[in-house]
Amino acid sequence: MKYKVALTGGIGSGKTTVSQQFEALGVSVVDADIIAREVVLPKSKGLVQLVTLLGDSILNPDGTLDRAYLRHMMFNENENALLIKNKVNAILHPLIKETTQRYFNEATSDYVLWVVPLLFENKLNHEAQRVLVIDVPESIQIKRTINRDCVSEAQVKKIIEAQIPRVKRINMADDILNGHLPLDEMKEQVKLLHHHYIQLAKKFKK
Ligand code: ATP
Repeated sequence: MKYKVALTGGIGSGKTTVSQQFEALGVSVVDADIIAREVVLPKSKGLVQLVTLLGDSILNPDGTLDRAYLRHMMFNENENALLIKNKVNAILHPLIKETTQRYFNEATSDYVLWVVPLLFENKLNHEAQRVLVIDVPESIQIKRTINRDCVSEAQVKKIIEAQIPRVKRINMADDILNGHLPLDEMKEQVKLLHHHYIQLAKKFKK
């Protein structure tokens, strides 16, 4: 079994940025967000099953999944929403799990970096051997996300509130990376962590 380091952190904390730094060191990166999109690509088993469940109305005119509409169906006030959410999850979760495992098996580096934004919220932390948390103050998360996604402060705050609180996230970490460092300093920290993880992965194999 591959040694897995889960990388997590709140919205705008720098997960993608840090995962690219690990990737540049030759680490195989498996990204939960990318997989979640991959399993509902046009013609995929996932999308076909969702259309069978909910009809064509969940598709955009170009045949891609209308994510906003699906989210609305799953999270509105209607009494059916919970049932729909459970059924959608029953379709997507096994596909996500299977695809994730395939990528773990295909990984070529000493350990895999598994990027999972909602690691603790979805209770996935025990699936990894090590948990690396990127930590930044909320004010930085808000500033970065507003700049990157052109969203309002209120929208970012709502997302932060729906995620695990910062202190709890830190308490559950094996390693903490300060996501507020200048990028070149962060790179040095990532290098140190990388060497540490190689050692841990070697011990894990023995
Ligand atoms: P999300 O959860 O929303 O997908 P994320 O955790 O993957 O976000 P990134 O997309 O990596 O975060 O970073 C958010 C923004 O902050 C980006 O615009 C990125 O360029 C910037 N950023 C990330 N790390 C740093 C840093 N150390 N210094 C300055 N800017 C940074």
